[in-house]
Amino acid sequence: MKTHVPVTSAKETLSQKQRRMRTILHGLNQAYPDTTLALNFSSPLELLIALILAAQCTDERVNAVMAIVRRKYPTAKAWAEVDHKSLEQDLRSVSFYRNKAKAIRACCQELVTRFNGQVPQTLEELVSLSGVGRKTANVLRGNAFGQPAIGVDRHVGRLAQRMGFTTQTDPDKIEDDLNVLVPDDSKVRFCHVMQTHGRVQCLARTPLCDTCPVRSSCPYPT
Ligand code: SF4
Repeated sequence: MKTHVPVTSAKETLSQKQRRMRTILHGLNQAYPDTTLALNFSSPLELLIALILAAQCTDERVNAVMAIVRRKYPTAKAWAEVDHKSLEQDLRSVSFYRNKAKAIRACCQELVTRFNGQVPQTLEELVSLSGVGRKTANVLRGNAFGQPAIGVDRHVGRLAQRMGFTTQTDPDKIEDDLNVLVPDDSKVRFCHVMQTHGRVQCLARTPLCDTCPVRSSCPYPT
């Protein structure tokens, strides 16, 4: 029979929450020592394209498509200037490929005209690009440019709620809450282990709490 031991409450102070965050991070790092971003990339541009393709599509599918097309489109100019039908054909195995082909061309046209073909590094510049939201911008900042940034995807958001690190549902506000709890030098790593934990243990419908490595620090199990 499960016993419920509350590990957090409305009275949990910021420093207690930060300490609990460090404990959970330590546990997840031990559980997933080799985990990293699931999308393959060798340049900021490749990661940007992969992130646009990854919306409502599996990372495995995106990696497979990128492995084929990356040499064909080595620059933003190449993505921007390709004939639309040809690009659709190249991306057809990805979900919503028509819309994504349109978004990639529009984004890369802006890269060419506004940023000399380079992917910019600031949050403000990144979110000013077509098809780039805050999550994509932060994943890029963290993984392509080594900046302390938290990209709140569905796994990070769901787990942060269950773990009692936020009561927010808006991803931007969840990001704000997490930014004060996760040390800068762990922010990118935090996202990787949370995503992996969300995929294999803290599942959306039924989290596997009984075997969870951070159960003793999580208020969710009842
Ligand atoms: S699996 Fe359960 S105990 Fe583990 S983090 Fe998710 S909700 Fe908490």
